[in-house]
Amino acid sequence: MFYAPRGTQDILPADRPYWRYVTEQMHAVAALFGLQQIDTPIFEEAALFVRGVGEGTDIVDKEMYTFQDKGGNELTLRPEFTAGVMRAYIEHGMHVLPQPVKLYSIGPIFRYERPQAGRYRQHHQFNVEMLGELDPAVDLEVMSVAWTLLTRLGYRGLSFQLNSTGCPVCRPAYRQALIEYFGAYRNRLNEVDLRRLAINPLRLLDSKEEAAQALLDGAPHSSDYLCDECAAHLATLRSYLDALEMPHTINFRLVRGLDYYTKTVFEVWAEGIGAQAAVCGGGRYDKLIEMLGGPPTPGIGFGMGIERVILSLKQQGIQPPPLPAPRVQVSPLGEAARVPALQLVRRLRNAGIAALLAFGNRSLKAQLKAADRAGIAYTLILGEQELAAGAVLARDMVSHAQEAVALEGIVEWLRRRLT
Ligand code: ATP
Ligand code: MG
Repeated sequence: MFYAPRGTQDILPADRPYWRYVTEQMHAVAALFGLQQIDTPIFEEAALFVRGVGEGTDIVDKEMYTFQDKGGNELTLRPEFTAGVMRAYIEHGMHVLPQPVKLYSIGPIFRYERPQAGRYRQHHQFNVEMLGELDPAVDLEVMSVAWTLLTRLGYRGLSFQLNSTGCPVCRPAYRQALIEYFGAYRNRLNEVDLRRLAINPLRLLDSKEEAAQALLDGAPHSSDYLCDECAAHLATLRSYLDALEMPHTINFRLVRGLDYYTKTVFEVWAEGIGAQAAVCGGGRYDKLIEMLGGPPTPGIGFGMGIERVILSLKQQGIQPPPLPAPRVQVSPLGEAARVPALQLVRRLRNAGIAALLAFGNRSLKAQLKAADRAGIAYTLILGEQELAAGAVLARDMVSHAQEAVALEGIVEWLRRRLT
């Protein structure tokens, strides 16, 4: 027996209505905002993520699927979208396009995590990036994409968790304050957090370790350390959010923690999915593109976990519309009817009418039973008599009424009845 690898799952047909509904809404909302779709490779050079996501993050320290290919290249299955999209922006010279360049992607993400509900080793994200503009209205736009999408999916009572992690001007003082605060409790921190304290102290605020969590209440807040520019950016963004009635709470524990992640950080939390409450997380990274070898270019984006969105839709009892399925079945009776039946289903499908063909030599009764289970509205029975008359016997599966219909008029007959 083989099983799907730990932390991965098959997306079975029964779950497809959710996936189709959610991803169609993603494309539709992206279009409302003028976002353009970009697909980058599922694997990239490992070094891109080490640089772009940064050491001291959970992703780089312990979650990457990195391997050597047969040519000896170090590659990593993408653990997030941003670094690859930035690489593409630089590689294709997108800085010469009108800015901001507004991009979105949908696809799988790989992280070696401890699997639990809402946390997998392969999950999918809807990812949005807006590049080349510093205006806080872009921050609002990016947050509005998430807001509009979740609202359209039926969420109520949405609210943002928001923070600013400053910039290379003001962050050093905040960093120092964190080092002093946590440094005083050094003996309580475990190895992972001591490493964070040494290389990326902001990440301590995001630590999942109990000892660090217990110290958080007394930790300094980044909002008390912002320079004038960062404070003004945050104040303007908050005034926009207020004007648009988008509730938000300042959460000083939201951080990215690296020099190239600047100013705005945000998450959207959904009710009902337990510990893994964040459906969406994002923020600004005004120094990232430069860091990856491109021209200085500000940017902001978010990633939304599609599995977590679907989990919470289910928990809230939100039903997606059913997927379209054939409503016509063609049932040949006897060998002589076989080829005419093949020709008839071909004709129906060419006319855009989805149709099933009954296989094998099962009795009419068994064929009708199968049609019922498949939700068929009309079964077209091709028996000897009908064949001789150039007709089919059309059976209404609900009323059980049967009517002989000339083969040449069957497409029109069905069209009038199927809407
Ligand atoms: P967490 O703190 O829960 O680990 P994160 O900060 O690692 O989240 P991001 O990197 O911001 O998450 O990813 C964006 C979104 O992707 C998250 O808000 C979440 O909805 C989803 N996500 C992240 N990791 C997983 C995972 N292992 N399984 C399922 N969804 C995930
Ligand atoms: Mg994580």
